[in-house]
Amino acid sequence: MPKLQRLRTDAFHAQKGRCCYCSLPMWNTSPDELKPFGLSARTATPLRCTAEHLLAQQDGGRDVAGNIAAACWSCNQRRH
Ligand SMILES: [Zn+2]
Repeated sequence: MPKLQRLRTDAFHAQKGRCCYCSLPMWNTSPDELKPFGLSARTATPLRCTAEHLLAQQDGGRDVAGNIAAACWSCNQRRH
């Protein structure tokens, strides 16, 4: 597993599957993970778990535990 993906998955579990910004439930490997929340695969698309660099890469942020948080795709797009 690529390092960033592993860090993202660690963060995902540490945050109990919730986005670090909006606290909505995210899915890590399949949108079906959100079925228990009553979300269809299509509705769940923007809730895909992505790796968020707390210190941006262009500012010297690295792919290390502590600099990677799990954020939903939607929040990640908003920040960049
Ligand atoms: Zn979010």
